[in-house]
Amino acid sequence: MTQRSPWMDDDLDAFRDLARTFCEKELTPNTERWVENKQVDRELWTKAGEVGLLCLSIPEEYGGGGGNFAHETILLEEQARAGDSGWGVSLHNGIVAHYLLAYGTEEQKHAWLPKLATGEWVGAIAMTEPGAGSDLQGIKAKAVRDGDEYVVSGAKTFITNGGQCDFVIVVVKTDPTKGAEGTSLVIVETERAGFRRGRVLDKLGLKAQDTAELFFDEVRVPVGNLLGGVEGQGFVQLMQQLPQERLIIGISSVVAMEIALELTLRYTKDRQAFGRPVYHFQNTKFTLAEIATEARIARVFLDDCIAKHLRGELDIPTVAMLKWWTSDRAMKAIDECLQLHGGYGYMTEYPIARIYLDQRVQRIYGGTNEIMKEIISRTL
Ligand SMILES: Cc1cc2nc3c(=O)[nH]c(=O)nc-3n(C[C@H](O)[C@H](O)[C@H](O)COP(=O)(O)OP(=O)(O)OC[C@H]3O[C@@H](n4cnc5c(N)ncnc54)[C@H](O)[C@@H]3O)c2cc1C
Repeated sequence: MTQRSPWMDDDLDAFRDLARTFCEKELTPNTERWVENKQVDRELWTKAGEVGLLCLSIPEEYGGGGGNFAHETILLEEQARAGDSGWGVSLHNGIVAHYLLAYGTEEQKHAWLPKLATGEWVGAIAMTEPGAGSDLQGIKAKAVRDGDEYVVSGAKTFITNGGQCDFVIVVVKTDPTKGAEGTSLVIVETERAGFRRGRVLDKLGLKAQDTAELFFDEVRVPVGNLLGGVEGQGFVQLMQQLPQERLIIGISSVVAMEIALELTLRYTKDRQAFGRPVYHFQNTKFTLAEIATEARIARVFLDDCIAKHLRGELDIPTVAMLKWWTSDRAMKAIDECLQLHGGYGYMTEYPIARIYLDQRVQRIYGGTNEIMKEIISRTL
């Protein structure tokens, strides 16, 4: 049903086997418990580090796997196929580690990346505040220079891996009189005095993902914790890295659509009504034919974006198109798949219900879909 992505090769097939084996063994049997705990086991991170699944696309000299974004894509796909949406590995691997790789000084990269690669540290990135999400220039968190230190103060919310993280990239103002040019990224290790976690938040979906509030009460960090070592670069750094985050959301959305289709085909061919399988009603067949078509279109667009990204050619408006369209279409497709499950589709013990609940946020985070259309429209 799903076509083979053109960027796959034999080595990546072998890597997919490794990722699938790990996900089936370590994720599938535990997902229920993690939903109850509102987080994955902390040991999962070190286990993944031991088999080389952390920092897959970070060079080996910094402790990473020496792979590329194709490896990250495969891990994400296999995690979804194993039925888990709790493990925040795509954020750790595909986002946090890449800020360090792209902007860290050699000293910073050697000091921090190996700990993220072993799972000794779990990474998070804290941009959003209670009063500012889409409008990142409106953030209030600040880092004030005091001799050889920065004093970081502020509150962040909705932070993925917030409950477990050891290492946070915090978006702050180093010059509150300026907007974008006054923004910087400062690293806070969570063992530092003044750092505090708030609640792990109750969410509609992604129940096993620990999304938390973080508080910084005059946390002192060395000036060496300023990412890249130059103040005022934060906004540019964010703008350059957000495309990879949006590509990751596109992958999750397309895989969710494909899995929903597979589940619904299986269910409707098995479930009987009026003496025949539900699949045999014309409405079911036509609905699934339409979803199969949209899933194929989404996959082709996604593969094109991945291939461009692997060549370093993926532009910001194109990935904005991918992010809004795939997350939006996947939500509609999953809703129709749920409908074809009847009452069972509404029961959270059925995977289609979980996929439905998990998908909703893809239209919101990583930049809302409205912001994506704003970005696209500026280039038209
Ligand atoms: C589960 C989850 C995990 C998250 N993980 C992280 C994380 O790890 N790190 C992090 O920093 N953040 C994270 N976020 C935050 C997320 O990125 C923000 O919620 C998102 O960017 C939207 O910001 P907001 O919630 O403040 O909404 P607002 O910015 O207040 O938006 C409210 C509404 O107004 C619309 N709107 C705003 N501006 C415009 C505009 N210019 N034009 C048209 N419409 C507009 C929005 O599209 C939206 O519909 C997470 C959120 C969730 C729900």
